[in-house]
Amino acid sequence: MIIAIDGPAGSGKTTTARKVALSLGFIHINTGAMYRGITLKIMREKVDLDDAPAIEKILNNTRLEFLEPNLDRLYMDGEDISEEITSSKVTENVSQISCIALVRLKLVDYQRKMAQNKNVVLEGRDIGTV
Ligand code: C5P
Repeated sequence: MIIAIDGPAGSGKTTTARKVALSLGFIHINTGAMYRGITLKIMREKVDLDDAPAIEKILNNTRLEFLEPNLDRLYMDGEDISEEITSSKVTENVSQISCIALVRLKLVDYQRKMAQNKNVVLEGRDIGTV
């Protein structure tokens, strides 16, 4: 089963999704956190946003996983990035990076695979529509 939680910034998606997932024992997939994770990696590797091959390489070689204790810690390539993705530097850049078509294509595909045949709460601003 997939429960979709959609809504604008600051509407309480994350708090609601976390509580619902916890009480049902479902996996919580915070798609905004995934966009933030990819943003962090692009910033760390100082990739030019016009460099599509470099961005594609990052997208193809990055592992994003939600792990214990409550399946709402985000790990990127084995590193817990849950705090760092909330930094102001990431927040300032995430919207621009989320607009890149390739980034959206790959992350939506990744999110669909993560949710396949599982009980999940998927949250994010395009989850109910896309
Ligand atoms: O929800 P949160 O503010 O953490 O999302 C960070 C950013 O990721 C949003 O500002 C938006 O630009 C992008 N995003 C998106 N599609 C989603 C979730 C988030 O483009 N499904």
